[in-house]
Amino acid sequence: MFSMKVDFNRLSITGHELEFIQQAIDSGHLQGGGKFLAKCESAISDIVGATSLMTTSCTTALDMIALLLDIKEGDEIIVPSYTFVSSINPFVLRGAKPVFCDSRADTLNIDETKIENLITDKTKAIVAVHYAGVACEMDTIMAIAKRRKIAVVEDTAQGLYAYYKGKHLGTFGELGAISFHSTKNVIAGEGGALICNNPNFIDRANFVREKGTNRIHFINGKIDKYTWVDYGSSYIPSELITAFLSAQLMCAKKFTDARIASWNYYYDNLSELEREGKIRLCKVPNGCKHNAHIFWATTDSAETTKSLLQYLKSKQIGATQHYAPLHNCPMAKKLGCADISLPVAETFAKTMFRLPIYSTITPDEQDYVIKAIFDFFKK
Ligand SMILES: *Cc1c(COP(=O)(O)O)cnc(C)c1O
Repeated sequence: MFSMKVDFNRLSITGHELEFIQQAIDSGHLQGGGKFLAKCESAISDIVGATSLMTTSCTTALDMIALLLDIKEGDEIIVPSYTFVSSINPFVLRGAKPVFCDSRADTLNIDETKIENLITDKTKAIVAVHYAGVACEMDTIMAIAKRRKIAVVEDTAQGLYAYYKGKHLGTFGELGAISFHSTKNVIAGEGGALICNNPNFIDRANFVREKGTNRIHFINGKIDKYTWVDYGSSYIPSELITAFLSAQLMCAKKFTDARIASWNYYYDNLSELEREGKIRLCKVPNGCKHNAHIFWATTDSAETTKSLLQYLKSKQIGATQHYAPLHNCPMAKKLGCADISLPVAETFAKTMFRLPIYSTITPDEQDYVIKAIFDFFKK
């Protein structure tokens, strides 16, 4: 029988990465703060339309956000339970308590209708995570935050080239964080960026990124000796990373467009199974322009999803589930915030599955995946 192997993820490489890394080496400057850092930051700022600072990861950008918002012991942060641990850990590290919110069934994003009930006098921030590069309901979230005087942080790790009502994700709240992890649409191996929408944060963000020093003012010739002025750590990426990413950013739009074409191909071809009630496909609400970071769907039960994934594995197709809700994790128990029930997050974590998607997946490979899914439901 006809068979092929379709990996869950595959790197998208432009072919210019090594050339740029060689240029970085030849320049004699490999620490952070060189020509490639500037190049990446200007490219990212152009794409998102806001000031960006490159970091070593999205997680460290979120660490910086927790420092910039002066998060401290006793603060509460509202966060979806259905997300990656980095959406909350940077705040927990500063002593804050996670307050988990359920998700919407159509997008798996934070359910904006459930946020207001979770707000207390201690709430410092709402973390909006744009799952799969599909925007959260930002108008509602921003209105709640404004009314209740709470900060909004956007974990837009997956959201490069994704928009809500024409505005790039990560540019609604005070601060946002993007990831260039190897599994994202545009990659640096490990890498990230902080998005500063409130200009009041830009100076401090530079201090925090450079070990809590005002080295930025020294580099810009404003002072002749830099000194310790703030909290901070080493959050600036080396030129090896930004050289690689510079090449990637040149093709970022092309990679995204290719993914969107593949996403639409899955959607169109699997719609019949949705009409038959076998599966339910992910939805992109009106006003959201997504970037095809993830193609996901659900079946009617945890058991069906489990056997579907086993079947796809037997066909050498790399399909997989995603997050275990954070409130069900051991650390949530330790922090005393596990004793809640969030039905959508709990159910969908078990019934959802993701299909292989990357800029280089071929129609033949997608046909093979689609046929396998149809075959499974015909059995
Ligand atoms: C990938 C991801 C992160 C972490 O990104 P890193 O760059 O690996 O630190 C955080 N949040 C979400 C939602 C992610 O998908």
